[in-house]
Amino acid sequence: MPSVLVVEDDQFVRSALIRHLIEASHTVRSVGTALEALREVAHFRFDVVILDLGLPDLDGAEALKMLRGITDVPVIIATARDDESEIVRLLNDGADDYLTKPFSVEHLSARMAAVLRRSRAGGEAPSPRVIRVGGLSIDPLRRQAELDGTALDLTRREFDLLTFLAGRPGVVVPRKELLAEVWQQSYGDDQTIDVHLSWLRRKLGETAARPCYLHTLRGVGVKLQPPAAPPPPERPA
Ligand code: CA
Repeated sequence: MPSVLVVEDDQFVRSALIRHLIEASHTVRSVGTALEALREVAHFRFDVVILDLGLPDLDGAEALKMLRGITDVPVIIATARDDESEIVRLLNDGADDYLTKPFSVEHLSARMAAVLRRSRAGGEAPSPRVIRVGGLSIDPLRRQAELDGTALDLTRREFDLLTFLAGRPGVVVPRKELLAEVWQQSYGDDQTIDVHLSWLRRKLGETAARPCYLHTLRGVGVKLQPPAAPPPPERPA
C-alpha cells in the first residue's frame, strides 16, 4: 500500500486529494506547511510526496531543496503557476514530476502510478485494492468497473458516483454528501444527482422502480447494496 504525504495548505484541495488517495488505497498523511513536511519526511517513510508550491511559510522551490537535502522520496509538484521555466528549474532541482492545477484525479493517478513505477523499477507492482459488492467489482486506481465480469463503460462522474457509493455498501448517503464528495459542490440541484443516477442505473441494467444495486430513499439519500439473493426455488412437497 503506497504511502503518500500531501503538502497542501488549501483545505478544500487537501481534503479532495486525501479522499481520492484513500479511495485509491493509499495511506495518506497531510500537512499544510513546508516545515511540517520536512518534519514528516524526517520521521516517516513515504513512497511519494505531493508538494504544493504556494505554501504559507516557504517558497516551493526552497521547500523542495530542503526536502531533497534529507530524502530522495519521489516528489510530485502541484502548482497553480503554469510557468515553464520555473517547472524546468524544479525538475532540475529534484522534482520527479509536476501537475498544473486544477488537475483531475485521473491525471494525478496516472502521474503517481508512473512515479511509483519508476521508483520501484525492478520491484513488485503495487496491487490496488479492488472494491467488490455483489457482482460489481471496481478498481479505483485503474478506474475500471465490471458487473458480473463485463466491463462497464462509465463516464468520469458515473464512475466516481459508483465508487463512492460502493465504498460504503449498505449505507444511506445523503444527497448533500454526494454533492460535496462526488461533485465537490456545497449546494446544487437534486436533479444533477438524479440524472446521473438514472444513467448509472441504465448501465447497471436496473431501474428506479426495479432497483438491484442502487436504492433511492426518498427525501433521505441513496445507497448501494448487493442484490438480495433470489428466493430458493420452491420444491414440491
Ligand atoms: Ca497553496
